[in-house]
Amino acid sequence: MSVLIYIETEEGIIKKSSFEAAGYSGALARLQGTHAVAIVFENTAVEVLEKLGNYGIQKVYQVSDTKYTQAAAMPYSSAIAELVQKENIEVIALPKSSTADAMVSRIATKLKAGVATNVLELPNLTEGFQVKRAIYTGKAFAQIQLTAAIKVISIAKNAYTATTTSDKATIESFVPTTNEVDFKIVSKEIQKATGDILLTEADIVVSGGRGMKGPENWGILLDLAKAMHAGTGCSKPVSDMDWRPHHEHVGQTGVKVSPNLYIAIGISGAIQHLAGVNSSKIIVAINKDPEAPFFKAADYGICGDLFDIVPKLAAAAKNYIN
Ligand SMILES: Cc1cc2nc3c(=O)[nH]c(=O)nc-3n(C[C@H](O)[C@H](O)[C@H](O)COP(=O)(O)OP(=O)(O)OC[C@H]3O[C@@H](n4cnc5c(N)ncnc54)[C@H](O)[C@@H]3O)c2cc1C
Repeated sequence: MSVLIYIETEEGIIKKSSFEAAGYSGALARLQGTHAVAIVFENTAVEVLEKLGNYGIQKVYQVSDTKYTQAAAMPYSSAIAELVQKENIEVIALPKSSTADAMVSRIATKLKAGVATNVLELPNLTEGFQVKRAIYTGKAFAQIQLTAAIKVISIAKNAYTATTTSDKATIESFVPTTNEVDFKIVSKEIQKATGDILLTEADIVVSGGRGMKGPENWGILLDLAKAMHAGTGCSKPVSDMDWRPHHEHVGQTGVKVSPNLYIAIGISGAIQHLAGVNSSKIIVAINKDPEAPFFKAADYGICGDLFDIVPKLAAAAKNYIN
C-alpha cells in the first residue's frame, strides 16, 4: 500500500507547493514503511522529474497526452483513480492549488475514499490515520480521523519542509484508459494576468494598502518587489479603487497566500485581510500607526512613514540580494 502524489508544473518547472507535497508524501511513505510514487500530466523534462527522488519519490508516472492538460481536473481524477487501483495505493496526496482543489472530491468519490483538506502535519498513525487540518481560514485546527481504506489528502502550503537527498526518481510513461465524458470541458487558451511572479506561488510577497495613497506611488513598492524577486499583492480597497488589478487582492475575499515572507506596506491589518495571509511563515508590517492591528499579527514591525522606509529597503535589497 503506497502513497501517490499529484505533481503540478508551470512552464516545465515543478511548483513549490508540489515539492512541499512531494516531501510530505516521501516522509509519509517512510513513516508507513512503504514507498511513494508521483503522477504528472504536463510534458516535463526527465531531469526535472528525476529531482522528485530528492524528496523521497521513487517513481514518477508521466501522462504525456496533451489532451489531458487541456481538460485537467476531470481526466486527471480518472487517471489517478485508475493508477490507485493498479499500484495498490492507500494515500493520495495533492498540493494546494485550484486544479487540485477541483480534483480532491472527484478522486474521493471514484474511490469511496476519506478526505482531509488543508492538512498541516504528518498523520498520527498510533490511532489509525489521524491528521491535523486548518479550518476557518487558518484560525482553528481540527484533528480528523480517516477510517476509509483509501485516503485523499491535500497539503496546506508552507505546512511541510522536507529534508532532501541526492536520490533520483525513475520515470515511467502511463497511458490511462480514456473516458470521453472527462473531455467535455476543455480550456482553449490561457491568458496570464501578468508575466510577473505568480502570487500564490511566490516565496516573497510585497503587498500595499490604502496607506500608499494612490496608484502613482506604487513605483517604490514595485522596486522593492523586483529587488526581492517577490510577487505583489494589495488590500481589497486598493483593487476596488482600481489602483491595482483585482487578481492582486489578498484576503478572505481575494487570493490566499502562504509565502515564506509577507511584507505589508500601509495596510491596517483588518481581520479580512489577515485571513488571506496568516499562513505566511514570516510577516513584516510597515505602518506609521503604532496601534495598527497588523503589528499584533506580524513577526516584525517597522513603525514609520512608508515613503521613507520602502525606498531604503529596496536599496538595501538591491545590494544584498542581487
Ligand atoms: C465582507 C468583507 C470582506 C472583506 N475582504 C477583504 C479582503 O479579502 N482583503 C482585504 O484587504 N480587505 C477586505 N475587506 C476590507 C477590510 O475590512 C479593510 O477595510 C481593508 O483591508 C483595509 O484596507 P487597508 O488596510 O489598505 O486600508 P486602511 O484600513 O485605510 O489602512 C491603511 C493603513 O495605512 C497606514 N498608513 C497611512 N499612511 C501611511 C504612511 N505614510 N506610512 C505608513 N503607513 C501608513 C495607516 O496607518 C493604516 O493602518 C473586507 C471587508 C468586508 C466587510
